[in-house]
Amino acid sequence: MTEAVVVGAGPNGLAAAITLAQHGCGVTVLESAATIGGGTRTSELTVPGLLHDDCSAVHPTALASPFLRSLDLQRHGLEWCWPEVDLAHPLDSGSAGVLLRSLDDTAAGLGVDGPGWRRLFGPLSASYDDLVSELFQPVLHLPRHLVALARFGPNAVQPATLLAQRWLTGEARALFAGVAAHAFHPLRRPMTSAIGLMLTAAGHAYGWPVARGGSQSITNAMAALLVELGGTIKTGVRVESYQEVAHADVVMLDTAPGAAADLLGDRLPKRVAKAYRRYRHGPGAFKLDLAVEGGVPWRSEACRKAGTVHLGGGIDEIAAAEHDIYAGRMPKRPFVLVGQQYLADPSRSVGDVHPVWAYAHVPAGYTGDATELIIDQIERFAPGVRDRIVEKFVRSTTELEKYNANYVGGDIATGANDLIQVAMRPRIALDPYRTGVPGVYLCSAATPPGAGVHGMCGHNAARSAMRALR
Ligand SMILES: Cc1cc2nc3c(=O)[nH]c(=O)nc-3n(C[C@H](O)[C@H](O)[C@H](O)COP(=O)(O)OP(=O)(O)OC[C@H]3O[C@@H](n4cnc5c(N)ncnc54)[C@H](O)[C@@H]3O)c2cc1C
Repeated sequence: MTEAVVVGAGPNGLAAAITLAQHGCGVTVLESAATIGGGTRTSELTVPGLLHDDCSAVHPTALASPFLRSLDLQRHGLEWCWPEVDLAHPLDSGSAGVLLRSLDDTAAGLGVDGPGWRRLFGPLSASYDDLVSELFQPVLHLPRHLVALARFGPNAVQPATLLAQRWLTGEARALFAGVAAHAFHPLRRPMTSAIGLMLTAAGHAYGWPVARGGSQSITNAMAALLVELGGTIKTGVRVESYQEVAHADVVMLDTAPGAAADLLGDRLPKRVAKAYRRYRHGPGAFKLDLAVEGGVPWRSEACRKAGTVHLGGGIDEIAAAEHDIYAGRMPKRPFVLVGQQYLADPSRSVGDVHPVWAYAHVPAGYTGDATELIIDQIERFAPGVRDRIVEKFVRSTTELEKYNANYVGGDIATGANDLIQVAMRPRIALDPYRTGVPGVYLCSAATPPGAGVHGMCGHNAARSAMRALR
């Protein structure tokens, strides 16, 4: 029997493990933390009983993932919940850009920009599964869905600020800019529309759901399936050197490229070692979890119903803030993402005290305290929120990296989404999962298709390993 060891129990490590186990391999997963899940965990961070997502919160890419969908994780307790409003983006005027699963209702809410929104996102969301099957694999492959790619490509290569010029209202422009800012990259640069288009179209195709009981339910369900397939998971085991796993026929590394280079040392071919050492990490995140009595008193009604709220004002302000953090400067008004998962999943609250998840985009390795800047941004659109906060829990960029070694300098996307790395990561190669050491593969979000909870990096890496074994 082929023996495989997977280093790291994030969603990609678990996806690699499941794929290998499905193909008859004996699989052991080694995780350094005390619990599995990597960036997909849930804890009581503030008030006892209040369930906070430590990292990932909202999961359009999990629903869209062909691999995760094939697993029937509902059998292992995973249940999706949708908020009434998927995403709201409030402006100082009191109005808000609103993304709903229904394309018609979203277009109706965007007034004069409704027809333009529908023209762009109608075809993309209608052929979303075709698009995903192309984009959730390495860029160098034989495409099968040329129509879907032809609809996506010419728009995706544009800077988000340029693409947004097709809309007239501040609401539509800000709505798109906030989604494009998930790229953690200056919005005036080419290709920054790609992630905005993908996540917005995912909203219309699948919505922006959360997992009942917290994101941990996703990785718990994956772990339960792995054990059912005969796999073993050991937590509290940090792999420090390749020698510890060298007995295995296949080794999967759910790590950042730099950590893989450290683990593999001189075994790594020189050109690969050089590429892994030069791999570029993006800006950081500063995470703030709040326990809020009575919820956030948003001025905009849409925000009071939204699972996700993007804060940063209009498109120009967001573009300037994203430019600053990329250049290493902390803006006074950073781009902030707020999650109100409890609206879709009330089981996370205790009485009228609710868990509110937030993070700001900050420069890589930012050493300051962004807590008050985040609360200021929320207060700007929800006057009085400060008085309702009963408890806080903070994770700076340094603490995020301590929490999970893959988040180098607080880079929660495990790699900068610059022009080259958004298409080719972690290096330019026909098979980006191979490390060049026989039997050893990189399977983290540093490989295609990149960050997000979808398991496709791990699944693709495991398929690459299976091809080599044949
Ligand atoms: C604050 C935050 C918010 C996010 N929000 C979202 C969101 O809303 N939606 C979404 O889809 N995604 C979100 N993400 C991104 C998502 O969590 C990641 O892209 C995803 O978890 C990547 O999965 P992975 O398996 O590649 O790595 P990870 O989840 O990072 O897992 C890697 C695992 O490997 C372990 N490990 C590393 N090195 C070793 C070693 N040497 N030995 C043993 N174990 C090791 C780590 O401890 C960790 O458990 C967010 C991330 C953060 C931090």
